[in-house]
Amino acid sequence: MQIQDINQYKDIWVFAEQRQGKITPVVIELLGEGRKLANVKGVSLNAILLGKDVKGLASELIAYGAEKVYIADDALLENYTTDAYAKVIVDSINEIKPEIVLLGATNIGRDLAPRIASRLNTGLTADCTKLEIDEEDGKIKQTRPAFGGNIMATIICPDVRPQMSTVRPGVMDKAERDDSRVGEVIELNYDLKESDIRTKVIEIVKSAHEKVSLTDANIIVSGGKGLGNAEGFKVIEELASKLGGVVGSSRAAVDAGWIDRSHQVGQTGVTVKPNLYVACGISGAIQHLAGMKESDIIVAINKDPDAPIFNVADYGIVGDLYKVIPEIIEALDSIEK
Ligand SMILES: Cc1cc2nc3c(=O)[nH]c(=O)nc-3n(C[C@H](O)[C@H](O)[C@H](O)COP(=O)(O)OP(=O)(O)OC[C@H]3O[C@@H](n4cnc5c(N)ncnc54)[C@H](O)[C@@H]3O)c2cc1C
Repeated sequence: MQIQDINQYKDIWVFAEQRQGKITPVVIELLGEGRKLANVKGVSLNAILLGKDVKGLASELIAYGAEKVYIADDALLENYTTDAYAKVIVDSINEIKPEIVLLGATNIGRDLAPRIASRLNTGLTADCTKLEIDEEDGKIKQTRPAFGGNIMATIICPDVRPQMSTVRPGVMDKAERDDSRVGEVIELNYDLKESDIRTKVIEIVKSAHEKVSLTDANIIVSGGKGLGNAEGFKVIEELASKLGGVVGSSRAAVDAGWIDRSHQVGQTGVTVKPNLYVACGISGAIQHLAGMKESDIIVAINKDPDAPIFNVADYGIVGDLYKVIPEIIEALDSIEK
């Protein structure tokens, strides 16, 4: 393997994932986190944007803090394909040499990042929940849950560049938008032919599941195994809609077939940080807590006073959720009146 001069690598890149011309929300979180890292290192924070007719998105990325936006606007990049995206990004990394490359751990990011990393012979840490710059040597310390969330592993990539991470959506703070920011838009040089792309996208189907946006919700009411049956989600829905929130669930409720997986909160589900998280009939297993413990206010309703969920709850009600929730709804109704 060729020895790299790692000192040639500079700056932080965020992969500006877009779908149908819209920036994916995790990109704003990556720009928020990338800004902190760039400030510590004293380097610039840049974005790389691929797609067709996406030039207009560059100003949005700049407003969220990107100093340079590297752009490849091409009909061959209209839909995501591993081949096309990996080729353009690998060529660009080889040419421009960023030191750190961050991608969202979305389906696209998780597909793309390992392909890029293996072509570049570099290191990749998947699904990070914390990133830090080592003050002594300037390397990035990438932390992610491992072994089912039972340990947190901090991983470094000492000898090769770029240092690459995919970052779990919903964990990092979003960048602040400021439309007065200015930045540079740079067209990438790349060589891409139709014959480079072995995948043909025939149709993109948007499922109704995408309507549940747990990551963006301010209020989440979640139900777990304690509901006893699928019908139980009716009372969860009722409370959620009364509060103007959305319905979440534990994995046990998903595994029982009571609710779709798109509602699952936790380590293998979605990570959420709402203002209010109401956990109903959820024991508070570590894998569930991993996805919701950063919520501003946690309310737990559980009939077991020793349930671990009470360790993270700001307010706890020990009782049968089928009695407690209707009483809460009644109380909310009487306040409305
Ligand atoms: C690798 C791995 C990944 C995982 N990922 C996730 C994940 O992403 N998300 C997740 O949630 N889990 C995940 N799990 C599963 C996790 O370990 C737990 O099994 C799960 O969270 C338990 O769900 P629960 O709290 O709904 O059910 P239980 O643990 O069975 O708890 C039910 C609770 O309801 C209470 N209860 C019962 N009846 C009532 C009532 N009438 N009123 C009030 N309270 C009542 C009980 O006291 C109990 O505390 C994962 C596990 C592994 C190994």
